Amino acid sequence: MRRNTLRFMGINYEVRFVKYVPAGIARNAVGCFDPKHNRIYVSTTATKRQIAGTLLHELLHIIRHRVFVGMPMITDEMEVEGLSTALMELFSSNPHIFKLLSQGL
Ligand SMILES: [Zn+2]
Repeated sequence: MRRNTLRFMGINYEVRFVKYVPAGIARNAVGCFDPKHNRIYVSTTATKRQIAGTLLHELLHIIRHRVFVGMPMITDEMEVEGLSTALMELFSSNPHIFKLLSQGL
């Protein structure tokens, strides 16, 4: 299992790349965000593009969890999946966008 960490809005998050997402957290999922432990799980049983898409999807859950606290969860999956699909397309078509964005950091 590969681990990584990231920091967002003053909180550390752990990213765990695992073969299977723990069934107790999400059943048959390719990824999940565990807000109780500030942890993301990403299944590695997919293509690199799918793994990246899953990671982005879970990062959007973190962003939504931190920024849009209290908004109805019913729309959460649709919003997050729509945004992650759009961003994956944007990033894959324009990889130079990371350089442009990082110039502002
Ligand atoms: Zn999700």
